[in-house]
Amino acid sequence: MKPIETEKIALLDSMIEESRKVVLTAHMGPDGDAVGSTTALAAYLEEVRGKEVKIVLPDPVPESISFITEGYEDRFIFGKTDLEACREAIGNCDLQVTLDYNDFKRTGILEEMLSESKARKLMIDHHLNPSTEAFDIVFSETQVSSACELLFHILMKLPDIGSDASKLPKRSADALMAGMTTDTNNFANSVFPETLQMASALLAAGVDRAEILSNIYNKYRENRLRLMGLALKDLMKITDKGVAYIVMRKDVLDAYDVREGETEGFVNLPLALDKVRMSILLKQEDDHFRVSIRSKKGVSANKCSGLYFNGGGHEMAAGGRLYVPKDISDYGEAEKYIEKVTDEFFS
Ligand code: 5GP
Ligand code: MN
Repeated sequence: MKPIETEKIALLDSMIEESRKVVLTAHMGPDGDAVGSTTALAAYLEEVRGKEVKIVLPDPVPESISFITEGYEDRFIFGKTDLEACREAIGNCDLQVTLDYNDFKRTGILEEMLSESKARKLMIDHHLNPSTEAFDIVFSETQVSSACELLFHILMKLPDIGSDASKLPKRSADALMAGMTTDTNNFANSVFPETLQMASALLAAGVDRAEILSNIYNKYRENRLRLMGLALKDLMKITDKGVAYIVMRKDVLDAYDVREGETEGFVNLPLALDKVRMSILLKQEDDHFRVSIRSKKGVSANKCSGLYFNGGGHEMAAGGRLYVPKDISDYGEAEKYIEKVTDEFFS
């Protein structure tokens, strides 16, 4: 990663100092990195800087990663369940922080409130092509594993932490380790030298990684493994261009009682095959499919998502949406669409 400029840290430090009420935000369908980075920064701002903090998210925290926020639930407000409280918190804050997303569009129902707010704005993100015009300070770095990692490096540079991870509140340290671990899929992707330095510093500061791993990977419900079996045995298709895809429609999602977060990681599985260059997972939602794309080195998941799935993300891990009936006339057309566009993508 590029070095973090000392002047920018000084600016951030005074911006925090001058603020009283802070709102932290992350993207729709929050994942471990979104929840981890907001929680970690909230605990720092509260415990070290004495600020009043609210974490405002479009959607609730999925059960599968709720261990990160245990005992901290009262700091959260969700657009889906209490839009008015979100409006109030955003309207009353003097500093608004964007974590783990690069454009207010990624906050869905909160987009307008966040972009129209008069508060000072700070971005801490690791996605490609950030929309930075509205922001007073931007920390945007793609050569890191996660927003949690970028936030860690920023916190370490702040004077009151002074490069000593043991000065981070315990909740911050735990949440940073948890978010980095989910975004790297336990050190499988996007690991940089600085990622391991962060992990090392957090372990030395007393973070219990074994407990975090157990919380992330060993607490699923049985339906997840059963559905994974079905996905690999029957649902996965592989095109002659080396694209694996899995389409999960409502019938399957209902039959397996799938909840938010329970298919996390499925999209990575087909990449285990030598002949697969890119993997695409579609999950049916209200008026669209949610799309996840992963690719191997040399293939741009980000580009594919931007061209055909109304999305973006990182070079080898991206996401988006396929709208029905805007992009395809019917949910049954998904397979045909994927075959057609990926064939075009690789020609
Ligand atoms: P996932 O497949 O885990 O949902 O997302 C993979 C990556 O792509 C994440 O870093 C996520 O932030 C990004 N991403 C997911 N959905 C979208 C989307 O609709 N638009 C954009 N621009 N990025 C997305
Ligand atoms: Mn992330």
